[in-house]
Amino acid sequence: MEARGEAAAVGFWKREVVEGCVDVADLVSPSKLADFVINPYVGCPHACRYCYARFTTRYRPERPELWGDFVDVKRCSKPLGAKRLTGKTVFMSSVTDAYNPAERKYRATRRILEELAPIDCFLSVTTKSNLILRDLDLLKARAERGLASVSISLNTLDDAFRSEMDAASSVEERLETLRVLAEAGVPTVLFMSPIFPFVTDFRALVEAARPFVGEVWFENLKLRRGFKEDILAYVRARFPKFYAEYLKIYRRGDVGYWSALKEEIADYCERTGVPNRIFFHY
Ligand code: SF4
Repeated sequence: MEARGEAAAVGFWKREVVEGCVDVADLVSPSKLADFVINPYVGCPHACRYCYARFTTRYRPERPELWGDFVDVKRCSKPLGAKRLTGKTVFMSSVTDAYNPAERKYRATRRILEELAPIDCFLSVTTKSNLILRDLDLLKARAERGLASVSISLNTLDDAFRSEMDAASSVEERLETLRVLAEAGVPTVLFMSPIFPFVTDFRALVEAARPFVGEVWFENLKLRRGFKEDILAYVRARFPKFYAEYLKIYRRGDVGYWSALKEEIADYCERTGVPNRIFFHY
């Protein structure tokens, strides 16, 4: 996101997304998140302002566009490979959203799900888009064999804040997606990520999603080079009363907020019986 002064610090604007394709030798990569990860696209039009995946533009020097303004569908002739995937865990996706808007046209994720259908691997999909419901048939069939779960990433119930942060599905659409998936028997996770200090109301989110999820994952906001200044400028303009606290956390490295919140979340989940995983790094 380009910085364009105070007004632009708050506003989120979408430019035209440039679409293309890129040939890759393999769609499947070993990963720390699961045994393997599959990213059907390079780039992501969801354009989240806090997206850590923007570092991938480093490997695409032919792409002059900013993060969020391009998407390349991957072309690959190599099969996913039943032999190497059987019995393994597969995560989709780590540096793009498999259900970004380009998927409507290219259906690369759908093709991957079809190829994975006969393979006995556990597939975990995470997305911010209700487009995933298009593939409910395939996800449901996997879930019936105990081989699938879906996490929906959401960090607020305030759709104005959400729309200033990303160009994906609305808050309402994401909650509805969880509901439909859960009712179809697909194991669901609310992935509360990234938690914005003082902005994300974790209790309200847990309660809103609770009827439709089996588990809640929590991840804190990390500000990395490339978007740290944009987010701090945003907070200063949009939430001035929290700005000093953000400076404490993100300029002075004070970890007190996160350690206290981690305890609060763990305590709340234990008291209310919410299965959870907390991925806090600070
Ligand atoms: S949806 Fe995920 S990959 Fe896409 S921009 Fe947002 S954080 Fe990045």
